[in-house]
Amino acid sequence: MKTFDRSKQAYRKAVDLMPGGVNSPVRAFKSVQMDPIFMEKGAGSKLYDLDGNEYIDYVLSFGPLILGHADEKVTESLTKATANGTSFGAPTEMENELATLVRERVPSIEMLRMVNSGTEATMSALRVARGYTGRDKILKFEGNYHGHGDSLLIKAGSGVATLGLPDSPGVPESIAQNTITVPYNDLESVRYVFEEFGDDLAAVIIEPVSGNMGVVPPNEGFLQELRTMTEDNGTVLIFDEVMTGFRVGYYSAQGHFDVTPDMTCLGKVIGGGLPVGAYGGKREIMERVAPVGDIYQAGTLSGNPLAMTAGFETISAMTEEAYASINKKVDRLIEGYQQAAEKHDIPLTVNRAGSMVGFFFTNEPVTNFETANQSDLELFTHYFQGMIEEGIYLPPSQFEGLFLSVKHTDEDIEKTIQAAEKVFSQIKSK
Ligand code: PMP
Repeated sequence: MKTFDRSKQAYRKAVDLMPGGVNSPVRAFKSVQMDPIFMEKGAGSKLYDLDGNEYIDYVLSFGPLILGHADEKVTESLTKATANGTSFGAPTEMENELATLVRERVPSIEMLRMVNSGTEATMSALRVARGYTGRDKILKFEGNYHGHGDSLLIKAGSGVATLGLPDSPGVPESIAQNTITVPYNDLESVRYVFEEFGDDLAAVIIEPVSGNMGVVPPNEGFLQELRTMTEDNGTVLIFDEVMTGFRVGYYSAQGHFDVTPDMTCLGKVIGGGLPVGAYGGKREIMERVAPVGDIYQAGTLSGNPLAMTAGFETISAMTEEAYASINKKVDRLIEGYQQAAEKHDIPLTVNRAGSMVGFFFTNEPVTNFETANQSDLELFTHYFQGMIEEGIYLPPSQFEGLFLSVKHTDEDIEKTIQAAEKVFSQIKSK
């Protein structure tokens, strides 16, 4: 049995200092009924906790570390950049470098603005879409997460297409009412919203592959149809690629599915493990942003030289071959999981888009929030706890996907499959 004495000690201190002992809720491990594990160090595909336990890491800081922990080139460039000063509040060439790279890979982004998180990216994109169209309402999808901005922290009301309700105290109802929520992959509901609210619909925002209810890809033609409807209605189509951007593949989700949004939000991989987000899109829209235009958005640390350096080095290293190599490992991981689940009669549905992969403990297809919720959460908790014991660090929720990096080796994958098989067999013999 692993011991977690030092983690537990640190956690006792932390709960007095920070709500739940953490600076972001999922880290508290509430849904898997464990105390969080405090980390000391990462190297490649591995994480090491305070008690010296080693893990193969499939969280990768919830997505950014596609090159793994402490990548040599990234850390070397960061060290150099740090020696030159950490922030200037003035433009630097590295901002041009990263912006150029982003635009090459995601051509729908003709112009962009760097911010410090995914939340800031989506909040800002919505303001711009509203300012640009002169409309107030937005449409989002149930089970999609776009950060914790007031307009986006909205749950569905009752009924198929509903005016939203605040998902948290502190979000005013007057704001929630401008957010309409419909089930993911449900074109009928989207059509209804356009008929009812089309005149005041500023934006449709969507995760082009959903990664926040587990991994749920779009049905064939779904994104294309959204594109047509938004275009016909003068509504801004925003792809929230905070998770999928530079993760799903070389050209992100919009390249993968060949659909061109008006605006795109980025985060995670674009910062290579430092705090970066970005939003961008059509020049005509982005030229409405201050100081060229009249829509205000700003940031003291936006475009920070360290963050730009980590992002630039990370995306530069992600060649088409690098994505292909991750995909191959995902293929093998899926194959191994399916065999292990079959052997031990564990219900398992696998969803996947490029290197984004999600395992659900159900035999039913998972296409939206409702079907994702049919997963056996108790089974997930046993599985998660068992995998920790085997040295495999997974996202601590059924509703988060796994992430792989270029540093994950074939040996890591085989070890993970063996661990899953062992844990499935333990679950069945309970
Ligand atoms: N959009 C999506 C699709 C996300 O997955 C996340 C974070 N998981 C966000 C926005 C918010 O990003 P951040 O946590 O950097 O604010």
